[in-house]
Amino acid sequence: FAMGSSTEHSAFAKTKNPWDLERVPGGSSGGSAAAVGARLAPLALGSDTGGSIRQPAALCGITGMKPTYGFVSRYGLIAFASSLDQIGPFATDVEDASLLLSVISGYDPKDSTSLESSFQAPNLNKKSLKGKKIGLIKELLSTEGGLSKEVASKVQQAISILKEQGAEVKEVSMPLISQHSLDVYYIIAPAEASSNLARYDGVRYGFRSTEAKNLLSMYRNTRANGFGAEVKRRIMIGTYALSAGYYDAYYKKAQQVRKLIKDEFEKVFKEVDILLSPTSPVTAFKFGEKTDDPLAMYLCDIATIPANLAGLPAISVNCGFDSNNLPIGIQFMAGLKKDAELLEFSLGFEMALNEKTQDNLKLPELVN
Ligand code: GLN
Repeated sequence: FAMGSSTEHSAFAKTKNPWDLERVPGGSSGGSAAAVGARLAPLALGSDTGGSIRQPAALCGITGMKPTYGFVSRYGLIAFASSLDQIGPFATDVEDASLLLSVISGYDPKDSTSLESSFQAPNLNKKSLKGKKIGLIKELLSTEGGLSKEVASKVQQAISILKEQGAEVKEVSMPLISQHSLDVYYIIAPAEASSNLARYDGVRYGFRSTEAKNLLSMYRNTRANGFGAEVKRRIMIGTYALSAGYYDAYYKKAQQVRKLIKDEFEKVFKEVDILLSPTSPVTAFKFGEKTDDPLAMYLCDIATIPANLAGLPAISVNCGFDSNNLPIGIQFMAGLKKDAELLEFSLGFEMALNEKTQDNLKLPELVN
């Protein structure tokens, strides 16, 4: 059901990171990211509700993009949080991600949130970074929170490369998105999940318990045995946030703050073309490291969740490796429907980085 940041909540099995088999590939679309990272597949799809394409792309050393909400139809996708879910591409580089997005995007009358003005394919030859205005999100680049020093230093290297290419870089402060995105997300996403997952009662969809004696025990046993612990946690949080008496204090309040977060983005995008941050505050962690502490797992998405709340396009591109040879991702975000511009910029960055370091061309040892 697309929850978590490591694939450890999967009902099937966990996926290993191709760069270090003792570590997670990120999640929730970690299987897609690992398959492309290990060169088992040239392309894959993922669904990104709070970062599930970009964070695993970062941890597996590949490119992953969440398009503008509404650019790719959600018809046929298992719904997690419908106002946040968006399908997007995984690829080994930005050009392939662009090509895949050109194929999967477009208006679909079967998805009521599908946008009629759909994605325009980027001009793959237009890679100039000169004069582009880049906003560095101060709060997400500070190592005072959970951001690792090694991730911060590679992101700084990327910023220097952008400056050398003539980009105009300036710091922007976004206190709302950095302080409140997680809180808002962990009310809205579970609320929508609790509603979407109500259909898994054993009647029509998925698993049905065979031990039932009557209708009520069929519902009960199906839901008790069919859902894992993380899914149950979210259903309980979401049901609570939507219940009479708490709706105004939690769900409604979260929607109001979500609007303020959108406004904060709109304001900075009047001054800059692209926003920059790390994708994940840390590189791939070991299995089991965060499973006992849901909040530690939730913090993995601090930089990716804001784009989902505002519906904006955002991409993760590899920008180097840490001292354990684990990939590091940099995130670029653009204004609503500016997906083509975001991809053109990312292509330019990737080319400039390759000229400088060739880090992007490195392969996991198991591929060689
Ligand atoms: N890790 C986040 C969560 O657990 C995001 C999941 C996603 O984007 N599907 O909700």
